[in-house]
Amino acid sequence: MDLKILQNELNITIRNIPDFPKPGIQFKDITTLLNNAKVFTMLMEYLESRYKKLNLDYVAGIESRGFIFGAALATRLNIGFVPIRKKGKLPSTTVVEKYALEYGFDEVEIHIDAFMNIKNAKVLLIDDLIATGGTAEASIKLIKSIGGNCIEACFLLKLLGFDAVDRIKEYTEVFTILDV
Ligand code: AMP
Repeated sequence: MDLKILQNELNITIRNIPDFPKPGIQFKDITTLLNNAKVFTMLMEYLESRYKKLNLDYVAGIESRGFIFGAALATRLNIGFVPIRKKGKLPSTTVVEKYALEYGFDEVEIHIDAFMNIKNAKVLLIDDLIATGGTAEASIKLIKSIGGNCIEACFLLKLLGFDAVDRIKEYTEVFTILDV
């Protein structure tokens, strides 16, 4: 499938909500993409064809919108899905990574046994959007800390005005579909 066609469809279906969750933020709402069966399927077909050649072992998705795309892709690739969650949500033993926000910090975590017995598991990281890249950087560190090998980080949307891709390229390959 042609990337330009997909980009055009995503551009039409994703909506911008000004001043959410606080004044000055342009929130990119992907619910309008999810409820459009044609475009959601088109996106998943594109990602499946891109990643099926890589012989991945897991897809890891970042809470919470990364869960939707990551889990859908994992079933298409017939591999497992691993959630990377905000601190305090995962029930078993975890590894935690702290990262800086504009004001303060946040923490994400992963189950320590998420990649089970696969040594050097090949992992794709996925989220809906990359802005500063802080969440993605912390997530890549988590994947590494439990023995995984992050092959690529994939984001549907790249928020303009940040140099996040350069930041993440120090750790892994980066693939983004649409600049917003
Ligand atoms: P960052 O760590 O700055 O790259 O932020 C990425 C995370 O925050 C992703 O999980 C996004 O879903 C969310 N996010 C940040 N900015 C926006 C935005 N303008 N619209 C929607 N989601 C956002």
